[in-house]
Amino acid sequence: LSAPRNFFVGGNWQLNGNKQEIGNIINFLTAGNLDPSTEVVCAPPTIYLEHVRKTLPSSVGVAAQNCYKVPKGAFTGETSPAMIKDVGVEWAIIANWAKVGHALEAGLKVIPCIEEKLEERESGKTEEVVFRQLKAIADNIKPNQWQNVVFAYEPVWAIGTGKTASPAQAQEIHVKLRKWLNDNVSADVARKTQIIYGGSVTTDNCRELARERNIDGFLVGGASLKPDFIQIVNARQ
Ligand code: PGA
Repeated sequence: LSAPRNFFVGGNWQLNGNKQEIGNIINFLTAGNLDPSTEVVCAPPTIYLEHVRKTLPSSVGVAAQNCYKVPKGAFTGETSPAMIKDVGVEWAIIANWAKVGHALEAGLKVIPCIEEKLEERESGKTEEVVFRQLKAIADNIKPNQWQNVVFAYEPVWAIGTGKTASPAQAQEIHVKLRKWLNDNVSADVARKTQIIYGGSVTTDNCRELARERNIDGFLVGGASLKPDFIQIVNARQ
C-alpha cells in the first residue's frame, strides 16, 4: 500500500542570505542526494525569488515567504501572488489566513501556518486556537484547491528558540488537525493533505519527528541554511 502523502520539507530562509550565501545553499542543494520521494521547497527573501528560481534545479520548488491579499494597487512595498507567479515561483508560505484564498485563486500553492503561543498551550487553549485558525483557512479553500495546500503547524515558542515540540506533542496536534479536516471538510482531504511541523527542527531531532505517522514533513528555518538540511530532507530514509 503506498502512503497517501509524500514527505514534504520546506526551507524557510527567513531574513538570511546574500547572493554569495544563496549561491552556497544552491550548490549543496544541487549536489546533495535528496530523497526523490520527498518534495523540497525553499523560501528565500522576496528580492531573491527570481534569482533562486532560475538557479535551482526544477525538482526543488521555490516559495515566497509572504504575499499580499490583493492583486495590485496602491500598496507600497507589498508583493502580489500574481507577481510571484510571474517570476516562475510556485509556492507561498502564508502566516495570515486572510491571504490564503487570493493566493490560491492566483494559482499559487500555499503553506498556511497554524500557530500556537506558549501562553495558549499553558492555559490549555491549544485545541481551540488551532481549530479556529484551521477553520478560517479552510473556509477560504475551494474543493478543487485542496491539492495545492500543505499545512504547517508551528508552535511559536519553538521557532528559532532551540525548543522543539516533542514528537508526541506534535503528533497529537497533527492528529487533531487531521480529524478536524475529516469531520469538517472530507475524509479524502483529511487523508491526502500534508501537515508539516515547524519549530527548531535539526539533524538531531528530525528522524524521531519523522517517525510519527501524522508528521508529513517539516518547515525548517535556521537549519535550512546549512548542508545539514539534506539530512533533514532525508529524515524518512
Ligand atoms: P526554525 O524556524 O527552524 O529556525 O525554528 C522555523 C520556521 O521558520 O518556520
